[in-house]
Amino acid sequence: MHRYQLPGIAVGVIENAIGTFSLPLGLGLNLQVNGRDYIVPMVVEEPSVVAAVSFAAKIAREGGGFHAEADDPVMIGQVQVTGYGDPTEASRKLTARKEELLALANSFHPAMIARGGGARDIEARLLPAPEGARGEPILVVHLYIDTQEAMGANLINTMCEGIAPLVEQITGGRVFLRILSNLADRRLARASCRIPVEVLADFNLPGGAIAEGIVQASRFAQADPYRAATHNKGIMNGIDAVAIATGQDWRAIEAGAHAFACRDGQYRPLSTWTLEEGHLVGRIELPLALGTVGGPIKVHSAVQAAMKVLRVSSARELSMVMAAVGLSQNFAAVRALGSVGIQRGHMALHARCVAVTAGARGLLVEKVANALVSAGQVKVEKAREILAAMMGEGEPAT
Ligand code: NDP
Repeated sequence: MHRYQLPGIAVGVIENAIGTFSLPLGLGLNLQVNGRDYIVPMVVEEPSVVAAVSFAAKIAREGGGFHAEADDPVMIGQVQVTGYGDPTEASRKLTARKEELLALANSFHPAMIARGGGARDIEARLLPAPEGARGEPILVVHLYIDTQEAMGANLINTMCEGIAPLVEQITGGRVFLRILSNLADRRLARASCRIPVEVLADFNLPGGAIAEGIVQASRFAQADPYRAATHNKGIMNGIDAVAIATGQDWRAIEAGAHAFACRDGQYRPLSTWTLEEGHLVGRIELPLALGTVGGPIKVHSAVQAAMKVLRVSSARELSMVMAAVGLSQNFAAVRALGSVGIQRGHMALHARCVAVTAGARGLLVEKVANALVSAGQVKVEKAREILAAMMGEGEPAT
């Protein structure tokens, strides 16, 4: 039994807890990142996500798998100052006392320095007032903190709150908000793959035709936020599933990813696909604020088991794997979308869920699902009809 699932533990984790809630845990296969093989635990309720990642990772292996890298785990804490007088002078004073502010921030988490992390830099940012010229410009102190193996929210917030009195003293102003930014754009992970076009041949189509569909999907997403939102949702299907399995704050990851996708003023895809010298080249870049410590990671026994299966030794390595999973998921989606469409593959997998909804269990799930696909009607009513007929013919109930 999972220790975390005991009501006593759940009660200690959130408020008004009455129990725990489970989701399917699957394994993404075939993933190779920087020459290392990974079995990827994924928690997700949507059919086809795990299959898509495993399938895409297998194709990517034909081109040497994924290459990935990640920045140092530098996060941003924000301290908002108001009533500071002259904006340029307030910024100058803050910059001049940078070392003092950093030392104070680090005094709240001395162990982080010993680990090689901690507050590293400070920047005073002046932003135009939302009301226009009549309003006070927004003065924000950015505290750049190396959070090492932690996602870092709690430790960043502690440091931001800790330096607030000194920020007020230096500027003569008043501090309001003191919290991390989820736009973790100093903590980016990148992955790429380079797949020979000929290995893409499928659905009676040559590799070149499939590659062309994928490149067109990429161009569409680059030009159109309506498409980019769906393109990125597919990427996050894979990333969120790994994030949940490994105990990450997936809301923070989602917020960071979508804010990053908007960084040049238009919402854009987190990944691109191009044709380069007979190869389809995929690239992804996004912020990934992850931890191997903190939050529920060391408390939840299923997370611990997932970490053992994944065998990553650091939050950086985990971010590289997640970036590769996101790109895999995206590849599988645009490959189908740019050729035969996703419904054929997706509905075959969705049929199992429909079979379960209709009451099928055990071996009957696959049988009912197959019958639904053959009938060309993946509907609960049809599944009930098929199930009733099978039971009438003496099929065991489970
Ligand atoms: P925790 O506070 O749970 O854990 C981080 C702590 O772990 C560190 O402060 C450090 O404490 C200790 N630690 C032990 N080993 C290491 C190591 N090798 N590297 C770094 N730290 C280590 O978690 P986080 O600060 O990471 O915060 C994440 C949690 O905050 C998540 O649960 C998230 O949901 C939540 N959160 C998120 C917000 C957001 O995203 N906007 C806002 C608020 C909370 P010590 O130095 O004392 O040993």
